Amino acid sequence: MTGFDALRSPLRFLQSRLPEIPHRDVLEAEEGWWKNEGIAISEAIDRAGTPWLRMFDRLGKRVDTILYPREYQTMLRRGYRSGVVWRALEEKSMIPAYLLIYTISFHDPGICCPYTVSLGTALPLAKYGSAELQARFLPQFALKDDSAWQGATWMTEIKGGSDLGAAVETMARPAGDYWRLTGEKYFASNAGAELAVVAARPEGAAAGVRGLALFLVPRYRKDGELNYFVRRLKDKIGTRSVPTGEVELKDSEGYLLGPADSGIYLILEVLNLSRVANSVVSVALAQRAMADALSYGEHRAAFGKRILDHPLLRQQFENRLNALRSAFALAWDAVQLLNDVWMERPPYSDRYHLFRLVAHLAKYWTAEFAVDTAKWAMEVHGGLGVLAEYGAERWLREAMILAIWEGTSHRQILDGLEVMERKRAHKMLFQRLAEIAPSKELQDMESEVEQHLNLPREEKEALAEPLFRRLAVLTADTLARTSK
Ligand SMILES: Cc1cc2nc3c(=O)[nH]c(=O)nc-3n(C[C@H](O)[C@H](O)[C@H](O)COP(=O)(O)OP(=O)(O)OC[C@H]3O[C@@H](n4cnc5c(N)ncnc54)[C@H](O)[C@@H]3O)c2cc1C
Repeated sequence: MTGFDALRSPLRFLQSRLPEIPHRDVLEAEEGWWKNEGIAISEAIDRAGTPWLRMFDRLGKRVDTILYPREYQTMLRRGYRSGVVWRALEEKSMIPAYLLIYTISFHDPGICCPYTVSLGTALPLAKYGSAELQARFLPQFALKDDSAWQGATWMTEIKGGSDLGAAVETMARPAGDYWRLTGEKYFASNAGAELAVVAARPEGAAAGVRGLALFLVPRYRKDGELNYFVRRLKDKIGTRSVPTGEVELKDSEGYLLGPADSGIYLILEVLNLSRVANSVVSVALAQRAMADALSYGEHRAAFGKRILDHPLLRQQFENRLNALRSAFALAWDAVQLLNDVWMERPPYSDRYHLFRLVAHLAKYWTAEFAVDTAKWAMEVHGGLGVLAEYGAERWLREAMILAIWEGTSHRQILDGLEVMERKRAHKMLFQRLAEIAPSKELQDMESEVEQHLNLPREEKEALAEPLFRRLAVLTADTLARTSK
């Protein structure tokens, strides 16, 4: 049974997959805190529901305060203090942040949403912000105390998140050294954040995605008044601790990041950073669902022995453990590639396009794997699996969100096709995979991808999913061979 032991702890699993783990002591402390305190807080918040919006103060002034239970603040601040954001800024490396995200999301996948969107705000600010903007906003993200200055990444509007070029109606008008933004963001996670990055169209800019730009929008205007308004918070099946709201921008003060005509690249950089986090969270969630199924399987008996000792179930555990290792290898490859390329600006290198392809494969495959594993783990619990009081059903609710936000699986497949078609990113992928383990299977897959890319457009899209799935699995399996 020893092969399954690593499932019980995120740190042990990481140690079994990675040759070295920076700041191991920090991860150990994190895991210890979650076991002793965090899990109970997280479970209570999941049952009690989303934070609460207080729109007005007692004198009727609009305040839009998000009210959290005190324990939630303790849980949230811990991750910031441990370094999910400041370490990326200080150490100029993504690795510590994503290791923390893995460790934390094993216990609570939802809490990693605020951490990810805060990273997705701080890093573009550090990369593209003017000296003045950095001096004004960056120090707060670099603090190591309990202040928990938060970011947010708001692109999606009521008409949809997949087709941003058609759906973003938020307009930006120049107003001297800043801009005024007006519009509505329909799925705005971490509503109430101190600073958000927001997609908007500068007045007179082209239609479609090419006309979009990325702006920093602080919670308060320079004169101290609210700069954006939270219309309502959404009641979701998962990430229930995260306030996801509808946000109204009304002549809100905004600051352009990077050149206006490069906006879509900046937006995609933010999304790709989140997609990598989403992949890491998906694998941690799958590990957690398997760990819960394992401990149930060790104690539940049927037909005279532990259910885990029945050949069919045991084989499923073994197969799924191998699949978990592969999914981790894929997600971690995306982290490492991101770590190499995140300071690049357009026009990007070939390695950047390779990163994009791996990020699409990872986001797609790990989220599908998380959903499938959470469903399977529920089934291992039998009827108890569907009861809210035992927790197995939570992983399925959380996993469904991972498959949708930051671009659904459809989006990942189509964007993955695009980067293969336009940037030939698959060539670099196959070259790398062949260096790890050349095989006939890889050669066949490469020819299949080439043939697929030559299909007429309708057919190419219609038939893309099985191809993309096989490419993701083959990539994940091959990468897993280089792990410990
Ligand atoms: C809990 C939660 C939190 C979120 N937080 C944020 C946030 O903080 N910031 C933010 O910007 N967004 C956020 N989102 C929005 C999220 O990114 C979108 O839900 C997602 O991008 C999909 O957009 P949509 O829901 O509008 O679906 P749509 O774009 O309307 O798509 C509907 C369906 O059509 C499919 N589809 C669309 N185009 C195609 C095509 N060409 N081919 C095949 N299928 C297609 C989609 O894949 C999807 O299945 C959040 C979502 C959730 C659920």
